[in-house]
Amino acid sequence: MLIETMTMPEFAEHLKISRTVVVPVGSVEEHGPHLPLSTDTIHAYEVSRQACEKTGAFLVPPIHYGICRSTGQHPGTISISGDTLRSLLKDIGLSLYRQGLRNFIFLSGHAGGTHTAAMLEAGEFLLEQFSGIKVASLNILELGLKGWIPIIETQDDSHAGELETSVMMVLRPDWVKGKASREVPSFPRGILVKDKRKYWPGGVWGDPTKASPEKGTLCLEAVVKAMMELIEKIEKWEE
Ligand SMILES: [Zn+2]
Repeated sequence: MLIETMTMPEFAEHLKISRTVVVPVGSVEEHGPHLPLSTDTIHAYEVSRQACEKTGAFLVPPIHYGICRSTGQHPGTISISGDTLRSLLKDIGLSLYRQGLRNFIFLSGHAGGTHTAAMLEAGEFLLEQFSGIKVASLNILELGLKGWIPIIETQDDSHAGELETSVMMVLRPDWVKGKASREVPSFPRGILVKDKRKYWPGGVWGDPTKASPEKGTLCLEAVVKAMMELIEKIEKWEE
């Protein structure tokens, strides 16, 4: 159920049916020369929407910005700090808890390590702070990977590659501008570099030439199924 379309009485009524809420988190981040900057937000939101519509869980509007470290210098990336992301998730979580929600799922379309860690910290904070609360916090790669392995050919495909291009060909076909070539970044292991574009010029991690709408449809089916299973699991979860 989409909170953004609900009225006050509809919200109150739906609380009798569900105490579960999904908070999609995205990014405004370069996705190669061919995918829109909002790819992660669209991906997380659409997967959450389909799963919430099928399970009856609440869906709140997405947090459209995330922490983008290695793409921060590429044109179009607009990043926020870890403090801001943690604060947003804590504040939204607190407000939703006051509204009666108890099972929280933070699903990110952006899989960056610093971003994922900040989400986990906010989740742990809420878990510590409130009684009767259950929290799941994960990115879409963690959620979907098992189901995507038989579909996606490119090993370690992770950013604007075969998977994300295939998915966007289904979700926003008009926003996919051609195809980009295969690329793997060459960051030195363990050393932080100032000039990130030098080591990752095209902003692609994977192989978009292998993308197709057919693969996109299969990948979406698999990840929506995984999301529905997670919603059921957290609702039944007892420590
Ligand atoms: Zn992405």
